[in-house]
Parts: sequence; structure tokens; C-alpha cells
Amino acid sequence: MSPARGRFAPSPTGPLHLGNARTALLAWLSARAAGSSFVVRIEDLDGPRVRPGVEAAILGELAWLGLDWDEGPDRGGPVGPYRQAERRDRYRAALDRLREAGFVYPCFCSRSEIAAASRAPHGPGDEGPRYPGTCRELGAAEAAARASRRPPAWRFRVPAGEVTFQDGIHGRCSFAASVETGDFVVARADGTAAYQLAVVVDDAAMRIEEVVRGDDLLPSTTRQLLLYRALELAPPRFAHLPLVVGEDGTRLAKRHGAASVAELRGRGADPRAVVGLLAALSGLARAGARVSPRELVAGFSLERVSRAPAALRRDLVEALVAG
Ligand SMILES: [Zn+2]
Repeated sequence: MSPARGRFAPSPTGPLHLGNARTALLAWLSARAAGSSFVVRIEDLDGPRVRPGVEAAILGELAWLGLDWDEGPDRGGPVGPYRQAERRDRYRAALDRLREAGFVYPCFCSRSEIAAASRAPHGPGDEGPRYPGTCRELGAAEAAARASRRPPAWRFRVPAGEVTFQDGIHGRCSFAASVETGDFVVARADGTAAYQLAVVVDDAAMRIEEVVRGDDLLPSTTRQLLLYRALELAPPRFAHLPLVVGEDGTRLAKRHGAASVAELRGRGADPRAVVGLLAALSGLARAGARVSPRELVAGFSLERVSRAPAALRRDLVEALVAG
């Protein structure tokens, strides 16, 4: 079996819900089944949304579920720091490389200008309306003059054509970022690296071999692969899990009941029953099973994970805390 050094990269912006916990479990299982190490990285670049204490709570809940990690913000490691907010110099260096090689250009558009100029329908939700390329061909003199008035964002010059990759769950995937998002932001005007740049810089620097995450991020993989190519870095393998949804088929939310690990823990749930539920959602255990992550390692492979969206039944969640 090929090595699968893996990672789980939560944002400390809210409690760990069952969907994220399932992603962590499956990423961990894939790494451990291959005898590989596992990394926890905190994605805390979105300063205003980061809440104090949430990082510690998430780490505590992962440990309570029976997951462990070899490197992370709490225990360090050879390729740290493991918090994105402490890695800004790395992102700046990567942006410099992209700028020097001509892969990015400054963009002076405001959000409302882009919305007004874009006639295309919205692309993937994480990127907003497709960027129409307004600043793509600004001359150097014009760009310098504008930059003296206000700092620009930096956009990646997306080439025409499709990017194809092999996904561990979805198989062969093909997306045309030039059509879906257009030239995308890699650094905001305030100097903060965009998610796409930070995640590529970090996964490469942390020598991650396999990225297991929710399939809401599937379309963004194209943008990341373009950045890997431009920065001459080797990409990891990707596996995008079907999202966990409520019984009504919509994204997990408060109305679906006790969906956070902290709440289940606080109400006396057995962590083995919670892991059993997460495993059952993925087709790896029968409903009502009580198992530890360790007990699921033998024989695990991502190929065994069910491909259908996993619907979380409210009665099964409530049964975790009954009595
Ligand atoms: Zn622009």
C-alpha cells in the first residue's frame, strides 16, 4: 500500500460538527491503514471569524473520539508551525515567486465592481461571481499608479482549458477554472493569503501525500493544482467525501438536532457509539455499532466508503444520548 501521510485541517471558527468529525475519522483511517503519519493543522487565517478556545475544544473532541496525531499545534513537529496564522511569511514568499514568474497580476476591483461586471452565473460558492478579467491586461505603469493609491489583491492568471485529476472517491474529474471562476484571488488587498494559496503551500511544505476532505471542496482542487504547477510543487492525492446531510438532504445545521461533538459529549454520549455512527454513515459499520477508530483500521480503504451523500438520521443521533 502506498504511503498516505494525511492531515485534518479544521478552522477554529465553530464547534466540530459530525460532518467534520467524519472527515477527520476517514482521513485518519486512510493514513493509519497505510502505516503513515497524521497531521493536524489549524486554518485560522480568517481572523475575524476565529473564536478563542475553539482550537483547544476541537483538539479535545478529536482525542475524545479516539483519534491521535503525530504533529500538530499542541505537540509541534518538524514542519511546523501548524497554525496558518503563524505561517504568513511562507505565503508571502510563495506570492513573490508567483509574481516574479508572471503567474499573478494585481487587481484593483471592488467586490461590487466584479459583481456588476460579471454576466456569468456564480461559480463555485467559495469564489463568488466569475471574475471577468478586468485588470488582466493593465499596463505596468497604470498598475503602479493605481497601487500607489491603494494596495491591490493578486489574482492567478488561469489558462484556458480543463484540468484533469484522479480523485480517490469521484474517479476522473475535469474542471475548467477559466470558465467556472476565472482568474482567482491568491492574496487579498490586506496582504492575507487566500485559502487556495495557503492550503497548497502548507500541504506541500508538510509533505502531505493524501488529502481527504469534503466534496464541497472538489471544484477548488483545480485551482490548487494550477498553483502546484506554477510553484513547481508535487500535489498530493485527493479524495473528496460526499457531504453529510440532514434527513431532508440539506447541509447539516442546527435544526437537524445535536450535530456537534461537544454537545453529544456534554450529554453523556459514549465516544465509541459516536464513532460507530460516523462509521455507519460511511458504510463501514452497522447502525448502532460501538467501535474505536483503532478497531476500524484493519482492512480500511477509501474504496470501501459509500459514494452516496450520507444522511444523518436524527433518531440515531438522539439515541446516542438517550438514557
Ligand atoms: Zn480587477
